[in-house]
Amino acid sequence: MREAFLPFSLPSIGEQEVLEVIDTLRSGWMSSGPKVKIFEEKLRNYLGCGKVVAVNSCTAALHLSLVALGIKPGDEIITTPFTFVATANVILHCGGIPVFVDIDEATFNIDFTKIEDKITEKTKAIIAVHYGGQPCDMDAITKIARKYNLFLIEDAAHAIGSKYKGKKIGSLETDAACFSFYPIKNITTAEGGAIALNNQRVAERIRIYSLHGINKGAYNRYSRENSWQYEVVYLGFKYNMTDIQASLGIHQIDKLDEFIAVREKYCRIYDETFQEIEEITTPLVKNNVKHARHLYPILLNLDKLQFGRDEFISALRKRNIGSSVHFIPLHLHPFYRKHLGYMEGDFPVAENIYHRTVSLPLYPKMTYRDLEDVIDAVKDILKAT
Ligand SMILES: *Cc1c(COP(=O)(O)O)cnc(C)c1O
Repeated sequence: MREAFLPFSLPSIGEQEVLEVIDTLRSGWMSSGPKVKIFEEKLRNYLGCGKVVAVNSCTAALHLSLVALGIKPGDEIITTPFTFVATANVILHCGGIPVFVDIDEATFNIDFTKIEDKITEKTKAIIAVHYGGQPCDMDAITKIARKYNLFLIEDAAHAIGSKYKGKKIGSLETDAACFSFYPIKNITTAEGGAIALNNQRVAERIRIYSLHGINKGAYNRYSRENSWQYEVVYLGFKYNMTDIQASLGIHQIDKLDEFIAVREKYCRIYDETFQEIEEITTPLVKNNVKHARHLYPILLNLDKLQFGRDEFISALRKRNIGSSVHFIPLHLHPFYRKHLGYMEGDFPVAENIYHRTVSLPLYPKMTYRDLEDVIDAVKDILKAT
């Protein structure tokens, strides 16, 4: 058994990131300034989209997208329950109502064939979550959004570097794609997020909303050639990214494709090993996508096992292997049951997957040895039954 605990995930921070942060600290400019501008431009180039606004989280990115698109109290927004709680919380923060649609059992993304049943005259938008880095069925979802005149927002927290039919997520014809740079996402700025979009007017509104609704950023107020004057034009938020965060992002974005290549290599090894094991179903990758491989969620075939998912996770932990579960379906959380009246049984596919899924460690900082330790631990647990 391995001696040190292998965490479920760790960021890959190199010397360049460290030096860039030091440079920022010494520069005297720490809030949103020149480095955020550089990071936004690098991201825009990488994604191939019209505009990028960097903010302090993906949660903020999603919230600002809804606000800037004009989501109002009472509006209904369609998404899936099989996501992180941020996706639905921001809808409620706008006074909107999250309307859940169950997932497809192969990809764990929204089942687009069930969307139209949930559309009413109050429906204003769809938030498509690209689970684990696998793009949703965007052609089908875009068609529905156009037919009913709905905004289409992508929760692309897992999907930086993913492609749908050859096009990068972030460059599709949607209203906004929101990315996360939380420490265990595919790239990190410690905390951070960004909105990629093509509509220049909405981008400008998002930028203003991200800083108190002020029509001029601090950098434009305090630098030499600019004046102190500003106006508050909307009721905004304090969601701007700092230059310290952007210092990490400037280098992380350059490494993203290499990071994904390592993730792909490790996934191939996991696939080859676990496809031989009847107690495990390996994650499916559709053939019209590039999958950013943020997660490696296996499914346990519980009918072939003497124990459940939770026991499997404890057994991994006993063997010094971390893991996680993505996700506890949102409708099962006490707050969501109480406020939206959801119950167990409402989204049977999401619930079934939830009871069977385990996300195994998958990150570029892992070594082959670490990967072998995960594989050995899984085999050892299954042998014991
Ligand atoms: C991580 C995550 C978010 C939130 O990202 P933050 O940057 O932490 O706000 C939103 N949606 C999904 C699916 C996520 O996994």
